[in-house]
Amino acid sequence: MSETRRSATGRIALAIHGGAGTIPRDRMTADRAGRYEEALEKALKAGYEVLEHDGTSLDAVTAAVIVLEDSPLFNAGCGAVFNAAGKHELDAAVMEGAGLRAGAVAGVRRVKNPVLAARAVMERTPHVMLIGSAADAFARRSGLEMVARDYYSTPQRRAALKRAQAAEGEAQAGMTEAERHGTVGAVALDATGNLAAATSTGGFTNKLPGRVGDSPVIGAGTYADNRACAVSGTGDGEYFIRRALAYDLTVRMRYLDEPLDRAADSALQAVVELGGSGGLVAIDAQGNITMPFSTEGMYRGCVKDGKFAIDIFRRPGASRHSGENQDPF
Ligand code: ASP
Repeated sequence: MSETRRSATGRIALAIHGGAGTIPRDRMTADRAGRYEEALEKALKAGYEVLEHDGTSLDAVTAAVIVLEDSPLFNAGCGAVFNAAGKHELDAAVMEGAGLRAGAVAGVRRVKNPVLAARAVMERTPHVMLIGSAADAFARRSGLEMVARDYYSTPQRRAALKRAQAAEGEAQAGMTEAERHGTVGAVALDATGNLAAATSTGGFTNKLPGRVGDSPVIGAGTYADNRACAVSGTGDGEYFIRRALAYDLTVRMRYLDEPLDRAADSALQAVVELGGSGGLVAIDAQGNITMPFSTEGMYRGCVKDGKFAIDIFRRPGASRHSGENQDPF
């Protein structure tokens, strides 16, 4: 790529999350943490490699999210949670910050990588979102890999459904954050200065069939605008939708001139005040990264200037729902 096509800084950077619902700290063994960290590192490397070879931020977030979807550890693609009917319904979205192009799918059940289906909606149709079996049929027609219904299923997710359903019908009663939250996402800045975001999820255990969360809703769980930042959220989707979290963050930067970390903290705080919890990763056009969360932990990682950082729990001294101390660089 010629230098003239590079952004002023030419900086590349990427941040990912594997959900704001971590296994509780007292139940997290070194072995388990190691497996999560390994998967996060693999995803970061996949995305960063794209950026290092002058690939687009869209290709980078797609590559990172595919790795996380393919890992059974995370609630997206293989390893997705079960809904109340004992089935999987997956949601995903992608967005480009340059022209505000976006694509999403909701309630898909047969496409191996929902993020690719979302991207195909953006690139091959005049629409932003396709749902259900028609979205799967579109993915199939687009040549994407399709899987058997039980491809996404894991014994751990089945056990979580059993526990949730034993808890007197209350959707989230007795569930740990790890069982409630879980989504994967990525945000990136490429060398030309373009931002992109991608998010993919199984939603939450025991959700009603047909329920759609924030992840595929552009402006709620996913948003990218080169004039501000790219955002991918994880958490109580209904609250993220009601607060338009991802869009709120970008317009706080644009209208109020807030820096990335303050805008992210404020947007997440608004979700918390409404009664929700969760987290997000966001990156701005200068390559600043913030990864705040209101939960005990959030699987997360980022890479900038060749330096990788991966973390699971809140750092000692860092306050809840604050981006402070969350940018490791
Ligand atoms: N935000 C996702 C949803 O509501 C779930 C999560 O991230 O925990 O579908």
